Amino acid sequence: MFVTVVDGAYGLDVRPRAAHYVPPAVRELRRAGVIEDVLADGFVPKKMFWGKLDGAYPAGLDNSILGDDHPDPEVNWGHCAAGELGQSKARAWVQVSTSAGEIRMEADYTMGCDGANFQIRRSLQGDMTFPGFTWDKQIVATNVYYDFDRYGYEDANFIIHPEHWHMASRITKDGMWGVSYSEQGGLSHEELAARQPMKFETMLPGNPKPQDYVLANFSLYRVHQRLTENMRVGRFLLVADAAHLCNPLEPFQRIRVFGHSNSQ
Ligand SMILES: Cc1cc2nc3c(=O)[nH]c(=O)nc-3n(C[C@H](O)[C@H](O)[C@H](O)COP(=O)(O)OP(=O)(O)OC[C@H]3O[C@@H](n4cnc5c(N)ncnc54)[C@H](O)[C@@H]3O)c2cc1C
Repeated sequence: MFVTVVDGAYGLDVRPRAAHYVPPAVRELRRAGVIEDVLADGFVPKKMFWGKLDGAYPAGLDNSILGDDHPDPEVNWGHCAAGELGQSKARAWVQVSTSAGEIRMEADYTMGCDGANFQIRRSLQGDMTFPGFTWDKQIVATNVYYDFDRYGYEDANFIIHPEHWHMASRITKDGMWGVSYSEQGGLSHEELAARQPMKFETMLPGNPKPQDYVLANFSLYRVHQRLTENMRVGRFLLVADAAHLCNPLEPFQRIRVFGHSNSQ
């Protein structure tokens, strides 16, 4: 089988986002034969816990159980699905704009894995057919150098709180952590950046001030709960965020919705 990936960007997205591969993804990386390359650059997180701002440790998980023939795809950066597509009984095709002009690419099956922008899904199903809703919350995702080990943090830590719910995870071998936290909806990038020191001081262990950590990256995301009506339309398949969007820290949202108070 031969797979060709076309991506509208010109390289990998370096904004802070996903921190870890969960077990089903690890299985796919292993089946694809790239697990050794991933392990060489990354590490295997050992433990995670769900805690509270006061240090209470209600639950934890020892994540040492990770449990295999994929083609080696060709990746074409700078190839953007332009919206026009079509299919026959045997083939599916998309118009793709490239620096050399527009071309038509076709295959036995075409997968739309173009994320939350979902051009393929829009072309297949229309702009307004992504059932669900958008939360009145935002998530701020940061990368930060801060000594969480000093406070007994595990590799992945989910802190439960009605307002300051967040996740802190070790994401590199050189001491960088990903800290993603809840914020009010409707605030601009500048307003959220101005609030970031207050959020860290309030919610992180040791109540750090800006001089106590190095903030390496900062980006924001809207939070959705949406699922496409059809993940398959003939020879087109919708995959991942193109098919479903949800809060990556969803358990906290559920706690908030059901009014289960965790405040201290
Ligand atoms: C703060 C945060 C933390 C998260 N943590 C985790 C985690 O720890 N573990 C986890 O598994 N998930 C996590 N997630 C979720 C995860 O990041 C997403 O589910 C995942 O990145 C979605 O992958 P995707 O390939 O569907 O979309 P994307 O990663 O958005 O990729 C879409 C690709 O399609 C390309 N593209 C877009 N439009 C077109 C077009 N028209 N033509 C061609 N190419 C196009 C883009 O350039 C991009 O490369 C997190 C998300 C957030 C926001």
